[in-house]
Amino acid sequence: MKSMSKGIVYLVGSGPGDPGLITLRGVECLRRAEVVVYDYLANEQLLNHAPPSAERIYAGKIGGRHNQGQDEINALLVEKGHEGKIVVRLKGGDPFVFGRGGEECEALRAAGVSFEIVPGVTASIGASAYAGIPLTHRDYTASVTLVTGQEGKDKDESHIDWERLSHGNGTIVFYMGIKTLRRNMERLIQHGKNPETPVALVRWGTLPKQRVLTGTLADIADLAEKNDFKPPAVTIVGEVVTLREKLRWFDARTLFGKKLMVTRAVAQAGEFATMLTERGAAVIECPTIRLVEPEQWEPLDAALRTISSYDFVVFTSGNAVRALFQRLDTLGLDARAFGDCQVCALGPKTAESIKTFGVRADLVASDYKAEGVVAEFSKMDITGKRILYPRADRAREAIPRELGKMGALMDCPVVYRTVLPDRLPPEAIFALEKRSVDCITFTSSSTVLNLAQMLGEDRMLDMLKGVAIASIGPVTSRSCRELGLKVDIEPGEYTLAALTDAIEAFLTT
Ligand code: SAH
Repeated sequence: MKSMSKGIVYLVGSGPGDPGLITLRGVECLRRAEVVVYDYLANEQLLNHAPPSAERIYAGKIGGRHNQGQDEINALLVEKGHEGKIVVRLKGGDPFVFGRGGEECEALRAAGVSFEIVPGVTASIGASAYAGIPLTHRDYTASVTLVTGQEGKDKDESHIDWERLSHGNGTIVFYMGIKTLRRNMERLIQHGKNPETPVALVRWGTLPKQRVLTGTLADIADLAEKNDFKPPAVTIVGEVVTLREKLRWFDARTLFGKKLMVTRAVAQAGEFATMLTERGAAVIECPTIRLVEPEQWEPLDAALRTISSYDFVVFTSGNAVRALFQRLDTLGLDARAFGDCQVCALGPKTAESIKTFGVRADLVASDYKAEGVVAEFSKMDITGKRILYPRADRAREAIPRELGKMGALMDCPVVYRTVLPDRLPPEAIFALEKRSVDCITFTSSSTVLNLAQMLGEDRMLDMLKGVAIASIGPVTSRSCRELGLKVDIEPGEYTLAALTDAIEAFLTT
């Protein structure tokens, strides 16, 4: 008997591709992981759920090299388990559907390593949903069969009962069946299935690069060849395929098939990226800004320790809000330190951020530029009032200057700095070089100035030829133009939502 260790292996289904389709339990396991062993088909973005310290091992098994790798993977899982590690084995789709999860569990059980299975959305379920093809439907069929398209290739006898498969009106979904497509379609026809039965191939289902090809049993193999249709894809056979015409949604979205580049700092990019992906765009993140601590804390700390002695605190961004509250916490203080001090937010988004820290904004400027804050204060007499304005190191001077002119006593300590990142992501550079980006977005002057600095002005101009330039507002647009870029898209309102609408309008007309 091997000694039982406290190690455990979680076989986690990553879902079919869209990183939102993993389960809550799967994410919980990843958060705790010390080791993650992940597959080719598991979305690498999911690794962001794992702690930075977790060891990440790519068990990539790209078509054809399946067999030699499996024993090594089993051995690796056993070894890490025996070391007492919390291991996540992240597998494409569901671990127990053509995922060799069963074999991995057998090896773990034999070695006395504990395991848990976390199911996932399997490719047939994910791809059919995102292609708008219900696998069952009361008007069409009451059954569905999941089949491997590779069975029988190197075995004399097939496990598949082609006779049964070919009769009746049940939906059939083949996995791993693109290279063998012609042979499998022919087999169904030979065994009596109507050659006119509708067929859909769904490649990279649930991802922005999803591709769907439809035809019939008789012609789909020719169509696939003609269109150079490659794996990984599922093949859906059955009358239900016709429903796609009515129900297609994912690849019918306005920005589907468009590649958009987001240049904001990592911490801020997510919200904007979500707005764009919800309209179907593929988003490439290329952060041109990194947020770091101020060079010195004293001015801010002094202000925070006496924050209730101010008449107002002005926040102009979520970044300033988060940085300030984080520092407050470091000093052992919390929202109560504000006392009677009034809080002013630039725009409802900033007000929302403040609220997440338990403080309600007393004033919310509706104009999204600094002028909005100035307008708000010009409605009252602020002579002699003390105003704290925690700001970025490179913030515009408009607020201190204008409020100062109105007689306010301004304190403007730096709460965070924006610096250049060490480098731009290679995928982003690659996409620009390949000219595959449809639109690049600049959400502040720094984003475009930094990109120019990192790429070099001439190289940037060259790389952005033919790429639509979207700028969030006039200040950012001016910076673009000064660098020689032509701004194609600028919304009337200075918000991400308005920018998203403007991009959609530009790219779809
Ligand atoms: N365990 C996985 C299947 C692994 S077998 C699951 O449950 O989904 C690999 C096959 O899955 C591929 O050849 C392809 O047929 C299918 N597949 C995986 N991801 C896919 C995707 N995003 N879109 C279409 N097919 C996919």
